[in-house]
Amino acid sequence: MSEHRFTVYYMGRWQSENLSDTRAALEQVGANLELLNSMHDEDEIIAHVRDADGIITSESPMTRKVLESLTQCKVVLRTGVGYDVIDVEAATEQGIAVVNIPDLWTREVANQAMSLLLALNRRVVNLHSDIRSSTWTPRPPYDVGALHGETIGILGLGRIGSAMAQRAKGFELNVIAYDPYISDDVFAERGVTRVSFDEMMAQSDYISLHTPLTEETRHIINENALRLMKPNAYLINTSRGPVVQEAALIKALQEGWIAGAGLDVLEKEPPDSDNPLLTMDNVVLSPHSGHTSVLSLQLRTGRYGEEVAAVLDGRMPRNLVNPQVREHLHLV
Ligand code: NAD
Repeated sequence: MSEHRFTVYYMGRWQSENLSDTRAALEQVGANLELLNSMHDEDEIIAHVRDADGIITSESPMTRKVLESLTQCKVVLRTGVGYDVIDVEAATEQGIAVVNIPDLWTREVANQAMSLLLALNRRVVNLHSDIRSSTWTPRPPYDVGALHGETIGILGLGRIGSAMAQRAKGFELNVIAYDPYISDDVFAERGVTRVSFDEMMAQSDYISLHTPLTEETRHIINENALRLMKPNAYLINTSRGPVVQEAALIKALQEGWIAGAGLDVLEKEPPDSDNPLLTMDNVVLSPHSGHTSVLSLQLRTGRYGEEVAAVLDGRMPRNLVNPQVREHLHLV
């Protein structure tokens, strides 16, 4: 449409989204929203979005080759917290703002981690299945941890890790954490004990993962790490699948090095139908749904539009991942 100054592409499952709030926010700055399915082939992506002023991506990779092909793009927004689908260094070199939505679902993800922890601790899924197969066992044949007085180790004491710490304290767990990028003051403020990675793995009855996926954290939970865990301990992952080396986790579960796992994220999503995790009694799964609540889903589509519109209009978005481009884009 000729009255639009900008073109913004949304790449994702637009059929199941109501993007009217995104569209409305973009219209405010004269931007038109075009809808595309997710794509994974670089050349296909380039053919569709070369003329973009802005791109909203959920899973389509914004690689160096894609970013370098864009002729006038100012902003790429990732529809969640993690932005590992975007080559941030390449975007920065191209003067393109990388924006994410880090704050909308902090509590929801912590709630999911706590739900998985409680489901494992109280054996909710096992007992539910038992009842459905006519087995009524008020004194279940499982060892159930008390929670109070037990220890939870948190990997990554950022937004979600801190929200998890707060919840864990409500259940009277001792909270220890490993995060080399957070100051002692923040640990003290949150009432969390700082330990080394190995101490956390070895001392915890529950370990909850809350780091981003980076080169450093990819497979940080590998065979060596899992072998440090107590045999009664549970691993909970609501961060990103590849933070855990899945083959090693499967081995640990099969061989009883640990008691079980609660996973909202997997290395391959959705998983292959023959993934052993799907049939293990000591595993509770959810489909990367940790971020959802009626409220977070209501708010997020508006945020996509507001954040992209801000950059196109020369204003700072709420969370600029690469502040180096601020001057280049004259964001105030
Ligand atoms: P955040 O940036 O606030 O916190 C991440 C923390 O990890 C930071 O404190 C950082 O210092 C720490 N960290 C980085 N590298 C580390 C390392 N090597 N060892 C230990 N700690 C390290 O992010 P957040 O908002 O708390 O989100 C955490 C992760 O949760 C996201 O990156 C995302 O992958 C995931 N997430 C999942 C869902 C879901 O639906 N399951 C939704 C939102 C976010």
